[in-house]
Amino acid sequence: MNLRVGVDLGATKIQTLLVADDDSIVARKRRATPVMGGPDAVLAAVQETIEQLLARADQPASAISTIGIGAPGQIDAAAGVVLQAVNVAGWDQPVPVAEIVGEMFGVPVALTNDVQASMVAEHRLGAGRGRANLLGIFCGTGVGGGLILNHELWVGAGAAGEIGHTVIVQDGNQCGCGRRGCLEAYAGRGALEQIARDHHAAGHKTALFALMEEQGRSRLTSRVWLDACLQRDELALELIAQAARAVGTAAGSAANLLDVDCVVIGGGLATRLGDHFLNDVRIAAQPVLLRSDVANRIVLSELGDDCGALGAARIAGDRLAQR
Ligand SMILES: [Zn+2]
Repeated sequence: MNLRVGVDLGATKIQTLLVADDDSIVARKRRATPVMGGPDAVLAAVQETIEQLLARADQPASAISTIGIGAPGQIDAAAGVVLQAVNVAGWDQPVPVAEIVGEMFGVPVALTNDVQASMVAEHRLGAGRGRANLLGIFCGTGVGGGLILNHELWVGAGAAGEIGHTVIVQDGNQCGCGRRGCLEAYAGRGALEQIARDHHAAGHKTALFALMEEQGRSRLTSRVWLDACLQRDELALELIAQAARAVGTAAGSAANLLDVDCVVIGGGLATRLGDHFLNDVRIAAQPVLLRSDVANRIVLSELGDDCGALGAARIAGDRLAQR
């Protein structure tokens, strides 16, 4: 059998898929991303997860033709190097991911930005099927973006689609990238956690941190945010509403510029919060949009947690076919 491996290498989890030629999923395996040990620990975890994935499907390593990896941050796709991924602990220097993982399994490895990979999957198989022009806004630990224009992934000079670092508030909140007022500083899970911690330290009542401990977590996961919202926790509701407003403002502005057929909202946080979050995003986009009917073209990702890994596997297959 000719199989491909897709890896979504995220700041919080490593999601791997074994994918057949027709893009059907043969097996999946996920684990938490190591927070200690930097790139060495993370890439060892990727190796282990792929080995477990193959064992689960009862396939030898020789069954895989290629590996596709979607990673957050700035990527040199041609060189297979993650230049910088500020949301992944210890990834502040370039890491030659494609070369390292390629040596582990003896197959070619294609590296892509994670949200760009997700948008390739949504365009082929998900919410953007049959549409020519798409913008993706993915809220996870950070906020990533991806653009499909005329059915092709648009990378610009290499780093296009970074809607997370589009400024939505002049002189606004400090962002992890060092600038101020970026979308990510309002709608990334990392930024939201920092804001919640500051409020908590200042004496605001919230169930967020008790829920986090109950669930055995050290960080505010998407699940914790969802549970707090379901309990009508005031701080959680307020911060998530603010995040949705920020995403809606950015989505509306970008739609005015690009007039895309559809804006796909995805990522762990948005996917977990689902329709309520989407609704708030649409409401926030409405006053920003030159053409108000466009708000209905803002939709949720259909592929959820599989999105990035599926897209990465597809891109790897396409690159191999071009050789
Ligand atoms: Zn930024």
